[in-house]
Amino acid sequence: MNDRDLFFRYLAQTSPFPLSLEIGSAEGIYMTGSDGKRYLDLISGISVSAVGHRHPAVVAAIREQLDKYMHLMVYGELVQSAQVGLARLLADHLPPGLDNVYLLNSGSEAVEGAVKLAKRYTRRTGMIAFRNGYHGSSHGALSLTGHEGLKRAFRPLLPGIHHLDYGSIDQLGQIDRHTACVVAESIQGEAGAVVPSRDFMQALRQRCTETGTLLVLDEIQAGMGRTGKLWAFEHFDIRPDVLILAKGLGGGMPIGAFIAGREIMQCLTADPVLGHISTFGGNAVCAASARATLKVILDNRLWENALAMESIFRDRLRHPAIKGIRGQGLLLALEFEDFGQNSRVIAQCLRNGLLTDWFLFSDRHMRIAPPLVINSEQLHHACDMILQSVDETAM
Ligand code: PMP
Repeated sequence: MNDRDLFFRYLAQTSPFPLSLEIGSAEGIYMTGSDGKRYLDLISGISVSAVGHRHPAVVAAIREQLDKYMHLMVYGELVQSAQVGLARLLADHLPPGLDNVYLLNSGSEAVEGAVKLAKRYTRRTGMIAFRNGYHGSSHGALSLTGHEGLKRAFRPLLPGIHHLDYGSIDQLGQIDRHTACVVAESIQGEAGAVVPSRDFMQALRQRCTETGTLLVLDEIQAGMGRTGKLWAFEHFDIRPDVLILAKGLGGGMPIGAFIAGREIMQCLTADPVLGHISTFGGNAVCAASARATLKVILDNRLWENALAMESIFRDRLRHPAIKGIRGQGLLLALEFEDFGQNSRVIAQCLRNGLLTDWFLFSDRHMRIAPPLVINSEQLHHACDMILQSVDETAM
């Protein structure tokens, strides 16, 4: 059996139609199949490869850390310079007050830690999240996720969570003094790159402040420069009480984080002590990779490139079959008539050497979320392939 057959035989499958391409290597914005075919990566492993695959500075930082040590001890006991350096760099580039970082291994885990912290800090149990928000697949994160189709089969989930319509200022009155936290994506990713209004985000911030509710912003997909600002909440002139990061933070290595003020985070040290525990959280190699990744993003101001590239995409992707483009920066969604047409275009893109997909909660939209290092020449090539694929599938 070849690897493709073994993949179907031995690896747990979650989709009836996995892409099942065999990739031999990946560099920059390209992946190369084991058959030598090259693919332009338009989705960055779902907003992960923000600085491209195998960025030299990230690879060097990983190598350097490998030569020192890998795992030493569970999170929070020993002083590890890669963790300290990452946490400090994050705090230096976040608003004052967001200066205490808990490192974990994934987005879902960071969500779990953040909502436990909110319950512990406020001594409340209610939580509010939003329809079509995606927060992860573990029980708590799935409970916050706002899509019945994904949740129904797994009930009972966490009690006390109420979902509101994303963008509805009228419904924010439902946040009250029983609400421990509101968990929201700053820009919804899996809903198909939905950007909320500034008025809504400001009203949300204000209502949380009035009711003593922690505002937890999930920027697992929207953070790290992807939407044209280093942090997506900057678009709305607000700041969260707790910020959640993962995906692009690691530069291709698994890491997640929730970040809050010291006063809030301190709750995890007492009553009970060890209020949140992780064996691998902040793994030294992953933390070194994340620190190098954040440095590349900062040194090159990659959020500015994301904005510049967005405007080229918007200019170039005009076609009668394309109904619109949503999103911000390099978290964009191209709208087609229906799922059938979208999936035909995506399959044709793949044949033409462009890797993309649809969104979990919006199958009429095609995902455009390439590495933030993409340049205009590469981007024009991507647009050529998309337009060609649209034409070929229309015939
Ligand atoms: N929140 C958002 C906004 C996400 O996009 C994702 C992953 N798609 C998650 C949380 C969960 O992250 P992970 O898959 O690393 O657990």
